[in-house]
Amino acid sequence: MILVTGGAGYVGSHCVLELLKNAYDVLIFDNLSTGHIETVKTLKKFGNVEFIKGDLLDEKLIMNAVSGRNIDAVLHFAAYSQVGESVVNPQKYYINNVCGTLNLLKAILENDVKKIVFSSTAATYGNPKYVPIDENHPQEPINTYGRTKLFIEKIMDDYDKAYGLKSVRLRYFNVAGANSDGKIGEWHDPETHLIPNILKSTFGNRKTFEMFGDDYETKDGTCVRDYINVEDLAKAHFLALKYLENGGNTDFFNLGTKEGNTVKEVFSVCEQVVGKSIAVDIKPRRDGDTTILVADNTKAKKVLGWSPEKSLHDCIETAYNWEKILANKNPQK
Ligand code: UDP
Repeated sequence: MILVTGGAGYVGSHCVLELLKNAYDVLIFDNLSTGHIETVKTLKKFGNVEFIKGDLLDEKLIMNAVSGRNIDAVLHFAAYSQVGESVVNPQKYYINNVCGTLNLLKAILENDVKKIVFSSTAATYGNPKYVPIDENHPQEPINTYGRTKLFIEKIMDDYDKAYGLKSVRLRYFNVAGANSDGKIGEWHDPETHLIPNILKSTFGNRKTFEMFGDDYETKDGTCVRDYINVEDLAKAHFLALKYLENGGNTDFFNLGTKEGNTVKEVFSVCEQVVGKSIAVDIKPRRDGDTTILVADNTKAKKVLGWSPEKSLHDCIETAYNWEKILANKNPQK
């Protein structure tokens, strides 16, 4: 059985679905602070899923969850992930992300579970010194969120040396899209990400889409990001798990497409998918936004045998499909 912390959230739930498709039994441990019970119910239809509503800060609960079961490996997603909030309220982020992980690692090591795939981020690199960013790029995060993830990576290195914990840290770039069958998708409240915000603005009397800055030094003045499809990302987690099962050593990989798209390019694909022009309000730059972030994904391709298959258009099409489902669930938001 695989323990998936944060399995009711956006990336976690897509990874649970991938595990179920590959006949794994899954234990989801999630406090539902940002995840959704409806997502867990949907996942249960696709295989053997056990669910514990719990918080990693509850040391006893996670210890009992692991010791009472036959856990082979862990996929660890449970974390707060809003960059802006992390800077305003760092204590919330350090306690939840770092202390929560320490409790999780204690529980698994006491039960002799020594394989973990960790949801890390391109935010651990900070402002790029060069692009595309490879895994040797210095890790100098510029916000608390990125630092929590970097500290956890370092803790995992120490635990490998001392206790033999084998970890794979997957550093995501901009995750986008939804399950292609419309079963699950991105469901944040509040939503801060580009693609869902553009798409949400097209429903009824929603807020006009705000574009943060068109005076960057890029081909059209807007920031460049590397949008990686969430189903492609889920496949990478499955391959990382296989890598550890086959005796792989602790390692870390970028997950991105090696392609950059500007905000205006993304906006224009959204208009194509929605089939109409979308209103836009040009705003000043958003604090903390880096001009260009693109992944060098050569290492993940070579070592994990992973290859992203879906296009930006696929991401936006599936995201739109999901937004229509969400709009029906909750017409007010
Ligand atoms: N962005 C925007 N309007 C929004 C949300 C995002 O213009 O409502 C821009 C943002 O300034 C950045 C890009 O879209 O240049 C990607 O932002 P997102 O929050 O999706 O991901 P990030 O790169 O910050 O992790």
